[in-house]
Amino acid sequence: MTEIVPARLRVAPSPTGDPHVGTAYMAVFNLAYARHTGGQFVLRIEDTDRARFQAGSEQQVFDSLAWLGLDWDEGPDKGGPHAPYRQSERLDYYRPQAELLLARGQAYHCWCSPQRLKALRGEQERSKAAVTGYDRRCLGQTRDSLLAQGVDPAELVDQPVVRLLIPDDVELGFDDLVRGRVSAPRPDDQIILKADGFPTYHLAVVVDDHLMGITHVVRGEEWISSTPKHLLLYRQLGWTPPAFAHMPLLRNPDKSKISKRKNPAARLLWFKEQGYLPEALVNFLCLLAYPPVHQGDEVQTWDEFVASFDWSKVNSTGPIVDLAKLDWLNGSYIRSLDPDELARRITAQAQTTGDWPRDPDPADQELLRRAVPLIQPRLASLNDALPQLDFLYRPDDQLPVDPEAVAALRDDADQLLAAATAVLKALPDWCHDTIQAALKAELVEALGVKPKFAFAPLRVAITGRRVSPPLFESMELLGRVACLNRIARFRLR
Ligand code: GLU
Repeated sequence: MTEIVPARLRVAPSPTGDPHVGTAYMAVFNLAYARHTGGQFVLRIEDTDRARFQAGSEQQVFDSLAWLGLDWDEGPDKGGPHAPYRQSERLDYYRPQAELLLARGQAYHCWCSPQRLKALRGEQERSKAAVTGYDRRCLGQTRDSLLAQGVDPAELVDQPVVRLLIPDDVELGFDDLVRGRVSAPRPDDQIILKADGFPTYHLAVVVDDHLMGITHVVRGEEWISSTPKHLLLYRQLGWTPPAFAHMPLLRNPDKSKISKRKNPAARLLWFKEQGYLPEALVNFLCLLAYPPVHQGDEVQTWDEFVASFDWSKVNSTGPIVDLAKLDWLNGSYIRSLDPDELARRITAQAQTTGDWPRDPDPADQELLRRAVPLIQPRLASLNDALPQLDFLYRPDDQLPVDPEAVAALRDDADQLLAAATAVLKALPDWCHDTIQAALKAELVEALGVKPKFAFAPLRVAITGRRVSPPLFESMELLGRVACLNRIARFRLR
């Protein structure tokens, strides 16, 4: 057996909007391996792109990962031995490395204006140039030397950026934990430090992963083409690179890359809004790129996943985000909850969606606690609970009655309700078994109506609907007075 060495992994979202489901998906695989090895999991905020920065996004990342129980050991909110964990607070770490590369001729200043770069790209596209990317006009130059050569000053900016000089013999291949040997395309002379002194992702990610002692970089497959640049930086800065694992991209049902524009499920917060349980979503995210821990059973605990974790089992093809499967998993987790716990979660969810006040009436909560077992076997989402139980909470004179349910009743409805009223009034106690037995004896046995038709009018009168939670249990919860009241009102319509 090979010895397990504690690994350090990180998830490094950019706070550019409300969090992407990919952030949770990456967190799951990074965290699983960190826990598998007894190592650490770091949360780093990559906020160097100030144009795309959105205030509030970082807090949403904290909240949604915490909701999922994907806990980090070090991060901007928790601190840690490598603080700060926000890149915008680490500028002093990046600049010296860029200076070092400049001094060694491994990087160079570039004054080309955005307009010039745009024109260059346009020209390359028009001429279908074999070599694209920056044309190195500034390599070995100063701003003055460019002007002296007659370059139009309108094509030059005052503050230069720093570009990485990609050597001809740059190594393009690397070993990936998920994909084996990978070969990436030749990179361009990428900008590593912007004119405002902020690094780009490429410099910041390498400096931070090195300084934070990250041993395994687990990220989306869209970063494969950047890996040769990162490995080059590790080599030039004299650092040992981490291991890399590029996870397959999540896809929409039409196989395109999952996007917030095409798929609401690209937003991590959407899952909470929809009433999914965090443990069901984590289970679902694991299965996106990993076979079930127990063959033939897709429900598994986080601890089982962590214990079984093995890079060789991670899939490399892009999984489709199949919400039907998530619904099924969610239902299965809902059924396995203790009913009181389920009631607690329904309450918390209703408070988040605003359906219930922050301080719900204790009587309403108690009713929910007693009603939950009625809906638990068929509940698919926390959000479905209150609509299914709404009839229990309505005053009798405000019960909405579905006209289609009424229209579907047979002509004998009133006669059946009259008979039921007499039975219910005379019952010695008010418990669902007694209610059911007495109604069955009268409506089915004495009057000879098939059970399918015998109870339909009662269900519509009491719940307002054709389909409802179990009728007799619901009647027990409502109480005799309310039931008789509803039947009487219904008959008087
Ligand atoms: N900030 C990058 C992103 O949001 C992180 C990529 C990485 O993990 O290296 O995708």
